[in-house]
Amino acid sequence: MRVLVVEDEPVLADQLASSLGQAGYAVDRAPDGVEGEHLGAVNPYDAVVLDLGLPRLDGLSVLRRWRQAGRNMPVLILTARDSWMEKVDGIDAGADDYLTKPFRMEELLARVRALIRRASGHAVATLRCGPVQLVPATGQVTVGGTPVTLTGHEFRLLSYLMHHQDTIVSKSTLTEHLYAQDFDRDSNTIEVFVGRLRRKLGADAIDTVRGLGYRMRSREA
Ligand code: CA
Repeated sequence: MRVLVVEDEPVLADQLASSLGQAGYAVDRAPDGVEGEHLGAVNPYDAVVLDLGLPRLDGLSVLRRWRQAGRNMPVLILTARDSWMEKVDGIDAGADDYLTKPFRMEELLARVRALIRRASGHAVATLRCGPVQLVPATGQVTVGGTPVTLTGHEFRLLSYLMHHQDTIVSKSTLTEHLYAQDFDRDSNTIEVFVGRLRRKLGADAIDTVRGLGYRMRSREA
């Protein structure tokens, strides 16, 4: 899962990036509205955290441009305290949720998880594919009830496949959702990670659909 943070306050931007990174997301950052708008227009993010008060181009304009261009990723806006108008304007401009500054990082992470869950059509907080279970809130993965330890990349890959279960996901889509902008990408590494996940989760946990990609199934065949 890959998240964009558009925030001009350096300390808060650092905190957001490191908390989201620790929670298992690949994180891209933009310090102003122009760069943020560009990144959100060209990259496929699973969620965006967008401050409304931004230099060069304000957050509401950024959001409106994305929505006008058909970008429909979930967007959580950060609004100034006591500004109910900002919230109304933000929601009308296409925001999916908002948080008022200052906020607890735990709450932001919970809201981002919920946005990603809803965007992929899941109402429940625990994802299941046959014997494999993943709890996004804790990062815990179990197979038949037994905990499994995954690296950051393995977790991200598994999380994406489980959020999009019963769907064939191409290698290039996985590459785009696993790595941040500045990461040296190599789509061959996806095969390596899938191989490692199969060793940890069971050989038939992930299907290879020849020529198309990978798929995890909600029920065992
Ligand atoms: Ca700001």
